[in-house]
Formats: sequence, C-alpha cells, structure tokens
Amino acid sequence: MKLIKQLDIILLLIWCILLINLVNVNASPLTSCLASIKGQTVYPNNKTFPSLIIDENLYVNYTPSVLVYAVNNQDVQTSVNCAVKLKMGITARSGGHSYEKYGLGGRNNVMVVDLTNMNEITIDSTAKTAKIGAGNRLGVIYDKLSQAGFLIPAGTCPSVGIGGHSLGGGYGFAGRKYGLASDNVISMEMVDANGNILQINNQTNSDLFFALRGAGGGSFGIVTSFVFRLHETPPQVTAMQFQFKRSQVQQLFSAFNQVGPTLDNNIDLSIALDKGSLSIDGLYLGPLNDARNAVEPFLSKAPKPTSSKFTPESFFDSVKTFSYVAPSEVAKPKHHPYFFKAKSFLVTKGLTSEAINVLSDFLSTVSCDTYALFDLFGGAANIVDNTSSFVHRDTLYGIQLLGQDWKTKAQGDKCVKQLNDFGKEFQSKYTSYFSYQNYIDRDLDDWQTRYYGNNFNKLVDIKTKYDPNNLFNFPQSIPVKH
Ligand SMILES: Cc1cc2nc3c(=O)[nH]c(=O)nc-3n(C[C@H](O)[C@H](O)[C@H](O)COP(=O)(O)OP(=O)(O)OC[C@H]3O[C@@H](n4cnc5c(N)ncnc54)[C@H](O)[C@@H]3O)c2cc1C
Repeated sequence: MKLIKQLDIILLLIWCILLINLVNVNASPLTSCLASIKGQTVYPNNKTFPSLIIDENLYVNYTPSVLVYAVNNQDVQTSVNCAVKLKMGITARSGGHSYEKYGLGGRNNVMVVDLTNMNEITIDSTAKTAKIGAGNRLGVIYDKLSQAGFLIPAGTCPSVGIGGHSLGGGYGFAGRKYGLASDNVISMEMVDANGNILQINNQTNSDLFFALRGAGGGSFGIVTSFVFRLHETPPQVTAMQFQFKRSQVQQLFSAFNQVGPTLDNNIDLSIALDKGSLSIDGLYLGPLNDARNAVEPFLSKAPKPTSSKFTPESFFDSVKTFSYVAPSEVAKPKHHPYFFKAKSFLVTKGLTSEAINVLSDFLSTVSCDTYALFDLFGGAANIVDNTSSFVHRDTLYGIQLLGQDWKTKAQGDKCVKQLNDFGKEFQSKYTSYFSYQNYIDRDLDDWQTRYYGNNFNKLVDIKTKYDPNNLFNFPQSIPVKH
C-alpha cells in the first residue's frame, strides 16, 4: 500500500515536470520574459487586440508585438528589462493621442507599455500639490482636482493623456495665467533604460527635469507619475463664445494681433476659422462682470459679433463647455477616432493681412474639411524658464491647421499632400520658423530645430547620458550623439 502511494507521488511529480516543460515549449521568449507582469498583457492573437490599437488618429496605423497594461513601477521595469534582453523597441502610451501614433512606437513590432491603469491621483491640499499617475486622462484630472478646489493648466480635450501632454508642453485656457502643464510639474518618477526608477526634480537629475519638461514624450524613459503644483479654482469662471461673419476675418485679426498680447492674463482666447465660419471660444478665470471688463479692450477693436455668449459657471463646467463631447463623458473620457492630419505654426508677430488672405483661400479650396485654430499665448506661458526645454516663449499665438474626415485613402493622401505643401510655404513666408511639438508631424522638415530650437544639442547630450543605446526611440525622438 505504502509503495503504491509512493509510486503515485512519483508519477504526479513526473506529470508536473512534463507539464511545466510543455508550457515552456509553447511560451515565446517574449511571453516567458513578461510572465511576472502583474497587469494584463495582450498579444496580437487576442481578439480584443485590434480594438486596443485604434487610438485617436485613424490615418496612421502600427501593430505592436504586445500591449503591457502595467499596474505598477515594477511592471514597467520588467517590461524595460525584457525589451533590452530581447532587443525589442519599447514605447510608453498614456492617452494614445499622439498625432502620429507614437504611443504605439511609430513603427510595427514594438512593446507598448500602456499606463492606463497607473491612474492614482493623490491630492495634498495643504502643500497644494497632487501626485498624478501617468495613465490619467485630462478629464479625470480636472474632475478630481475640481472636487478638491484645484486645477492644473492643461488642454481642453478630456481624453488626452497627461503623459504625452505634459511632457511636450500642454496648453489650454488657463495657460496665460498659470503656464503650460509642463511648467507646473515639480517632480517625476521615471523608469530609465536600465530598468531603474529615477526620482527627477530641480535638484535630483535636474538635467532630466529640464529635458522632460518640454521634450520628454517618448525619448528618455517611461514616466510613471508626476507631482504637479496646484492652483485654486476661482469660485466662478466665465466662458465666452463669439460668432463673427466670415467676411470680418481681417478686422478680427487686426484686433487680435494688436490687443491680444496686452489682455489680462485671466483671459484666454482661441479663434476658429474654416471656409464658412469665424468664431472665438474664450475663458475668463473670474466672474461675469470682470470678464466683460477684461475682454472689452479686445471687443472694442474687433468687428461686431453676430452673437455673443457669456456663461458664468464653475471651472469644471467650463471644461465641459469647451470639451465638445457629452458632458457626462468628460470625467469618463474615451477615444473619438477619426482621420486627420495637422500642421502647427507659431507666430511671434501677428499674421499679415496677406497671410490671412492666403490662409483663407487655402481653407476655401483644400479638398477635405479643414479648419485653423489660433490659440493666444502670452502671460505665464511665455515666461522663459531655464529648467524647461520648452523654447517657444515668444509666441503670440499658436496656429493649428487640421484637415479631417475624408472617406477614402486616396482622398486622405490628397488632403495630406495639400496640407504639407501649403504648410511648408506658409511657414516659410508668414510665420516663425517654429512648431509645437505636441502637434507632432512626421512630415515636418528640420523638426529638431522647429520643435526644440537652441535646446536641441543639449537634449541630445542628456539623451546620450541616460539612454546611450537609444532604447526609447521613435521616428522623431531625441537622438543619441554618435
Ligand atoms: C483631440 C486632441 C485634442 C488635443 N488638444 C490639445 C490641447 O488642447 N492642448 C495641447 O497642448 N495639446 C493638445 N493635443 C495634443 C496632445 O497634447 C498630444 O498629442 C500629446 O502628446 C498626447 O499625449 P497622450 O499621452 O494622449 O498620447 P500618447 O500617444 O500616449 O503619447 C504621446 C507621446 O508621448 C509619449 N509618452 C506618453 N506617455 C509617456 C510617459 N508616461 N512617459 C514617457 N513618454 C510618454 C509616447 O510614447 C508618445 O511618443 C490634442 C490632441 C488631440 C488628438
């Protein structure tokens, strides 16, 4: 009897050993290496995989080797170590809003470390700081911070990820008052190319602190969390919406160029122009009467609007107003994938009337639905800061020219070519040399200087120090020195 029991145990052991071997035979080096990941790993053979790589821009497509949904720093470290061991490309994805899908690496067969589940937000109301996990979307951040009476300055689209956004700048309606999102980052945690966790602030790894605040998206390592300086939300803000006749465009820009830079920093304005309409969205960080007084110097020079709307509301409601998605979606953001291509121009002296005519003609003739947005800069966003690699501190306004919603690939290719050709000439004749790196554009020539100006060489040195083997790379990443 005893002997039979011993035989049973031996047989069981042999079976277990065989099973373990069988599992190992079926496992690829990648799955084996990632086996200890606590979060989910999704491979291309999983039926949900195609839906997880759509992201925001349908015009650009890449297929990664695996999506790692990291849940903690250790998962990110394991992923980095596996990428090094297996000589794979690796990239971070926060909100998946990169215009060129660089959250998927900008090429096929990359390991994507998706940070969606690293989404803690811890607010210290006394210190007026918040630790924000790199997987958070702007809408969720605005919601949670507003509930505690705070805000950070950042963009208007609720589904944009804080990762890519604040590493490349991050501009929105509180920008003239409080600067860019990146200006308000006071420390970060980052997994580097050796799989180490680095603490980064103005004292520790201060060169990386400089690099990450303006040029950090994808080039230096994977940032897992940010600590932001918070600002108290005013008890009331005022959303402003004006419509003008399309034919009043010259008069409107004359006022914008002249008065825009001198406006109270509590105001921000954004002009939208397409072939048939001309309008302004704006926000005043204060109550209605103050908003009316503050915008008056501009309105007195601008043509008479065909409609004006001042809406006193809470800061979070103003986020809903300008999100252009269902209000209930702001705190639960989701992708709205569409086909688009964008060009970015930065203006330091106002556009001339000739430039406005040229742009207006283009908007009337381009083959796809195209509009231009003009975001007023100035105030805190233009304060030169030598702890930030964001160089565009003399911007009067940023222009985004965006073509969208074509139906076929041929229409898309035609539209993209028109935008590229027009953009090249327009930039050379009418705007500054520079472009905004968060509106990243693979077709932009000399992007190194246009995005990073005189900081580019310093960024290459910092890259070479922290990632000498260029593990974190994509088609427009900061390169290493050879
Ligand atoms: C609909 C829409 C609206 C927008 N509105 C605004 C706006 O109002 N203001 C504005 O300034 N910009 C705006 N943007 C641009 C936006 O800021 C950039 O596209 C930004 O890079 C998106 O960040 P993400 O994390 O969502 O994208 P992702 O595609 O996830 O990442 C973008 C880049 O950053 C890298 N990255 C992401 N997370 C990390 C991380 N944790 N560590 C290291 N690298 C990382 C990625 O690898 C990739 O290279 C908008 C974009 C879209 C599509």
